Amino acid sequence: MLKKQYAVIGLGRFGSSVAAYLTGMGYEVLAVDDNEERVQDIVHQVTHAVSADSTDEEAMKALGIRNFDVVVVAIGQDIQASIMTTLIVKELGVPHIVVKAQNDMHGKVLSKIGADKVVFPERDMGLRVAHHLISPNILEH
Ligand code: ATP
Repeated sequence: MLKKQYAVIGLGRFGSSVAAYLTGMGYEVLAVDDNEERVQDIVHQVTHAVSADSTDEEAMKALGIRNFDVVVVAIGQDIQASIMTTLIVKELGVPHIVVKAQNDMHGKVLSKIGADKVVFPERDMGLRVAHHLISPNILEH
């Protein structure tokens, strides 16, 4: 069976760690950011890294985004860019879209426009840490 192909859009701390991990696990990963420096920083850790504005539908078509099995939209602070990018990726027909949300309302909008999974990395990690702190097999200090 062919291995899934991933594209990660937005190479902040979250997106770059997702992209580098998937590549390390042997998957083909396209990393995209409109900031050339961020692209240069990751170029040796992923299969392909390109500079492009993901809110530009023609640019996304030119990158062949429709051919990826999974697209991760990891744009955080610019909520408008995150929503526009998700919509474009959805309309291009990508089968599985994972999007990082800033807050509840952002998350709701992302689900309504077709994100298959919405993640809240800071919140989720906070819960995991708290859960770990109260788990019975942790040593008490
Ligand atoms: P993190 O917490 O993961 O570090 P963040 O939530 O602070 O990230 P940002 O730094 O706002 O998120 O965005 C992540 C990346 O998305 C940045 O590298 C930024 O250049 C990129 N980005 C923002 N808008 C676009 C866009 N329209 N096209 C491509 N990349 C974009």
